Amino acid sequence: MTPQRAVLLLRISYRKPEDGEEETDETARRREFSKGIGRQEEDGRALAARLGWTVAKVIPEDDTSAFKRRRIKLPDGSTALRTVRPGFREALEGLADGTYDGMIADDLDRVARDPRDLEDLIDVVESSRPRIPVTSVTGSLRLDDDAGVTMARVMVAVANKSSRDTARRVTRKHEELAAEGKPPGGGYRGYGFTAAGHEPIEEEAEILREIAARILGDWDGWTPEQRAQVDPELGESLNSIAADLRRRNVPTVTGALWADRSVRSVISKPSVAGLREYRGEVVGKAVWPAIVPEDRWEEVRARLAGRHRSVDVRLQRWLTGVLRCSRCGLMLHGWQGNNGPRYWCAKPRGGCGKIAVKAAFAEDEVQRQVLELLGREDVLRQLRTVADTEVTDEVRAELAADEAQLKELAGAYARRQLTFPEYREARGIIEQRIKESRALLTSRAPRVLRRLLAAEDVAGGWSELTPPDRREVVLALVPGYDVLPHDRSMGNRFDPGRLVPFEA
Ligand SMILES: [Zn+2]
Repeated sequence: MTPQRAVLLLRISYRKPEDGEEETDETARRREFSKGIGRQEEDGRALAARLGWTVAKVIPEDDTSAFKRRRIKLPDGSTALRTVRPGFREALEGLADGTYDGMIADDLDRVARDPRDLEDLIDVVESSRPRIPVTSVTGSLRLDDDAGVTMARVMVAVANKSSRDTARRVTRKHEELAAEGKPPGGGYRGYGFTAAGHEPIEEEAEILREIAARILGDWDGWTPEQRAQVDPELGESLNSIAADLRRRNVPTVTGALWADRSVRSVISKPSVAGLREYRGEVVGKAVWPAIVPEDRWEEVRARLAGRHRSVDVRLQRWLTGVLRCSRCGLMLHGWQGNNGPRYWCAKPRGGCGKIAVKAAFAEDEVQRQVLELLGREDVLRQLRTVADTEVTDEVRAELAADEAQLKELAGAYARRQLTFPEYREARGIIEQRIKESRALLTSRAPRVLRRLLAAEDVAGGWSELTPPDRREVVLALVPGYDVLPHDRSMGNRFDPGRLVPFEA
């Protein structure tokens, strides 16, 4: 049943000022309230549209002042502090009497921070067959089956009210700044920018552009002798750049001497490319300008990553992660054997040790197949689809939220607020989501494919790809290959039939 009269419940809570903090004045509090509500309503309506629900009513609830906790008398004669929530009660009653046929909220804990509120909601949801659909923007509110209900109870149990509220409010503040591309604030400054306002500092910006150019091999400040020593394909080494910066007495932020690590660190910051980072992930464009254009900066990062990896023979062998052992099902690894490089179901890595293939044979055959595929229009169309798949900010936000939730969950289990089965169930659900988000985020495929498909001659573009990039292309085409045992009757010849594409 798709709800046609859903209620959208919006709730904002107000953190009480801590000791020594000034009480926010009423106008500022109001402004904060409408901002938070505005975002929640936008998110809630977007979710409704996506699900095909129709929102009949929006109930904003401000539990920040007028509806703060009140001391009420309980049936046994004692008194207790209870949050009085007319908005939530109105939504519940509407769901119970059929005025509304579904509920959307921002997050489970906007709906019920108090376990008693949740139990009331569960009662209403379960009073109808099929259950009344309820959902939330963050995905935390699911009551459509017993597992969902258990999960919701666990999540509400997880709440350690005071500390959690404070933490979340700080987090949301940062999220808001991040979403608006504003600087994170705080006392320290990153190389290239002022601490206050995140304004570029021109002398440092110049050094950042220089570092990028030296890594990319197109700097025009080298002497002819220096230039002769730099392979434009590989760029200048970080050690060499650091040595030159030291020689020129170029200051760092901390006053420490330049080293390869600090050169890598200053140029790797997304802020340099005008991108806003949050919890280690780029969340979008920043309000400040790029010092190094984004595509150039991406190239720098890719080069540094490639350098880092090139020491690793397993990653130079681009079919690592593509070939699978037909006997035991583990992936084969690039391996430096006595008879040259090969892919092996490596015993030291827990493999059966029985399947191996000479690296050149397998690579030549897969390359032959890829080049053939790249000549086909339908294949190119498929690759273009993958190339257009952008990792959305939504995925990043989801990942951050899930990771935070996992931490909270572990804390709750440690404090014995959860039994082990409850903890395990909740953890399993969250971990699965995290795994999926991570897989999306770490995929290099879109970037690599865009570059490949932009090449005038796609086959020529392939020949210029780094080993890790080749792997991305192969994996965009096939899930991988099973490697069959070598038929000894064939002598030393390689039978291409040993590589069998497997089903995803
Ligand atoms: Zn094996």
